[in-house]
Amino acid sequence: MKDTAPQTIYLKDYTPFGFVVESVHLTFDLSPNATRVTSRIAFAPNPEATDHKFFLHGEELTLIKAAIDGQPVTPEITDEGLTCPVPDASFVWECEVEIDPQGNTALEGLYMSNGMYCTQCEAEGFRKITYYPDRPDVMSVFTVEIKGPHPVLLSNGNPQVQGEGHAIWHDPWPKPAYLFALVAGELVAHSDSFATCSGKTVDLNLYVRAGDEGKCAFGMEALKKSMKWDEEVYGREYDLDVFNIVAVDDFNMGAMENKGLNVFNSSAVLASPETATDANFERIEAIIAHEYFHNWTGNRITCRDWFQLCLKEGLTVYRDSQFTSDLRSAPVKRISDVIELRARQFPEDQGPLAHPVRPESFQEINNFYTATVYEKGAEVIGMLKRLVGDADYARALDLYFARHDGQACTIEDWLQVFEDVTGRDLTQFKRWYSQAGTPRLSVREEWNDGTYTLHFAQSLAASASTSDPQPQVIPISLGLLGPNGDEVHATETLELTEATQSFAFEGLAAKPIPSILRGFSAPVVLDREVDTAERAFLLAYDTDPFNRWEAGRALARETLMNMATSGAPAGADYLDGMLAVLRDADLDPAYRALMLGQPSQSELAAALAEAGTTPDPDAIWQASETLALTMAQHAQDVLPRILAECRVDGPYRPDPDQTSKRALGARALSLVTRLDGGTQAAAQYSAADNMTLQLSALGCLLAAGKGSEEVAAFYDQWQDDRLVIDKWFGMQIVQAAPDKAAAVAETLTEHPDFNWKNPNRFRATLGALVMNHAGFHAADGSGYRLLANWLIRLDPVNPQTTARMCSAFQTWRRYDSDRQSKIATELERIAGAPDLSPDTTEMVSRIRDA
Ligand SMILES: [Zn+2]
Repeated sequence: MKDTAPQTIYLKDYTPFGFVVESVHLTFDLSPNATRVTSRIAFAPNPEATDHKFFLHGEELTLIKAAIDGQPVTPEITDEGLTCPVPDASFVWECEVEIDPQGNTALEGLYMSNGMYCTQCEAEGFRKITYYPDRPDVMSVFTVEIKGPHPVLLSNGNPQVQGEGHAIWHDPWPKPAYLFALVAGELVAHSDSFATCSGKTVDLNLYVRAGDEGKCAFGMEALKKSMKWDEEVYGREYDLDVFNIVAVDDFNMGAMENKGLNVFNSSAVLASPETATDANFERIEAIIAHEYFHNWTGNRITCRDWFQLCLKEGLTVYRDSQFTSDLRSAPVKRISDVIELRARQFPEDQGPLAHPVRPESFQEINNFYTATVYEKGAEVIGMLKRLVGDADYARALDLYFARHDGQACTIEDWLQVFEDVTGRDLTQFKRWYSQAGTPRLSVREEWNDGTYTLHFAQSLAASASTSDPQPQVIPISLGLLGPNGDEVHATETLELTEATQSFAFEGLAAKPIPSILRGFSAPVVLDREVDTAERAFLLAYDTDPFNRWEAGRALARETLMNMATSGAPAGADYLDGMLAVLRDADLDPAYRALMLGQPSQSELAAALAEAGTTPDPDAIWQASETLALTMAQHAQDVLPRILAECRVDGPYRPDPDQTSKRALGARALSLVTRLDGGTQAAAQYSAADNMTLQLSALGCLLAAGKGSEEVAAFYDQWQDDRLVIDKWFGMQIVQAAPDKAAAVAETLTEHPDFNWKNPNRFRATLGALVMNHAGFHAADGSGYRLLANWLIRLDPVNPQTTARMCSAFQTWRRYDSDRQSKIATELERIAGAPDLSPDTTEMVSRIRDA
């Protein structure tokens, strides 16, 4: 039985736990339906606590026996845990529980995936393993003994005993329970080692199912690069004798940073040239880095409570983006991050799910692993670094590691190190953590006798969690260009702290053209009337690669909005500007590929809604199609040369040089397909010897309404490779014509390979439908209905994935009343499903009631 009324938990109610945990010994006797977990935990009264009530979290556990200092006790048990009278001094708690890993479909706690035992404890999964104070501020040293008939038995820390059927692991570093992990199964290791900066040798292992050994090499190299980078850039050395990564097929998220034993969704670590795309390789490199970097930012220094989630996530996302920028192209990484931020975080920030980077209340913490906490959290770190400068950022981080190692911290602790190092008062800056919503920045210019003045005004809409918004500190990186395109004022970061504030630039020979928010220096919406000619000028001349891209993006958005609302033809400034970019062989091909990418259809829907026009998904789709065709015609003379230039000779490597060429080649091919009906795409498909070329060709063919033979051949070729078949499901739906998308998705849900309990396959299918904007928003409501049907079915099995996918409906108020009422009906239907999980209940009510 579950509690029916979800409880709201508040940041302001935080109190420390009444006891410290001095040590934890766990023994696992593994059995699919009846695993026995025995715990021996040394507790002592916590001198910093006032409330010494002994409460241990525990859910879905069968208590076999419990004892305190060897004396049997009978605790009082509820749905959420147990209480028990305890001595006033230190004592040893022992208990034995039984759990059912095989029956655990929620993939939280200890569960089974293809015969392998695996855990996921963040945020509150450990309470499904044994009774424990399952909160991040309770840190302890763990020793774990595992008994089970498996060749590989893993847990955190260093191995003390390792053998068939029995292992003991000891983790010397105090950690919260959410970082606990256990894996047992028939696994094979891809092994290597790393010599740390102080000369220690660390054994590295990537554990996979037999047959996947050939997909480990890239992940292992990425791990070694991450270890080296963290030593060189942040001075962080690894601290155990071994570092293990395990790939698992059934996993709710990308990966998990358990101490010394990272568990990865197999899609986030396994890759070979034949089965993974360049984008997969890049993502794997970034995720491996991210989880590895958590060893210091998250594990050695953790969060006091879950409200502080951004303390570890914002910082670690920021660190992994620095890593990718260093290894690959910094401008391409920045642009890609901003595209993601606008696609995922802005809608959240501007809709019913808006919450501050550090939320002040929640019902289900699993619903707060959001783009706001992660991506906006990372933007906040980037702004802080920009404001204090690189040298002080480095000093502040050194102080953070020195002062807080081994602690569970807060955002206040984090900001304090910056205040101590720089002497700055960060009180106002802290509003980035407490105010929800995307600030808007409007700017007006004035030119007077050699002096150019910019008048800025910032505003933030009030929301449920931010009723009285106050001005924030907004770093505005800015440069000025002269009429001939020369830079007349190099990049400078202005600090906007007031609601309105002006900045003057003197001694200019002519009225300059401003390049504002260079590098996207703050996550804000810039409101400025700019004519097409000025955008075209910036597209041609801006020295800041981000703003140059931004100018092209704005031109694309404007022309698409005109096309969608009035049937206007594609703008000449856009077409000519893009042609010039395409022709410019001095520009990195990956950068040119990003330039040529259109704004997504949901981004256009948002822009139209913001401009006061109800977006029509069909008209937006039509405009996007027409613009692509027009662009293809406009560029038809250069496309063959681009395709030739992007051809890669020699063996496949997912390195920046080759990846960059293939990215531009894919763009060019999609344009060429508009002209030749798929002849070259079909040729590329047949000749492809890597997944990047094979899949991009298949996508072009499907988008052109062709490719049925290739779809069948692709399935025959890859039916035994689950990760490739995920792509097969997704591509058919994403590329389907809008009027067919829901039907294609529905047919695929009837395919024997549609294993809907596997989160990857579920997302590859239903998530792909949501990505087909006009298809999901089909006027007959078929897209909404299909998604709702499956969310209702998935909820009892996997509430976490269900709740997260409800966010597909978060932008529903943008659309016409007919679509709104169809979505409302589906939200109603989900809300009314019997025994709906607290996760999904919270999400649906937030979306519906806003
Ligand atoms: Zn993380």
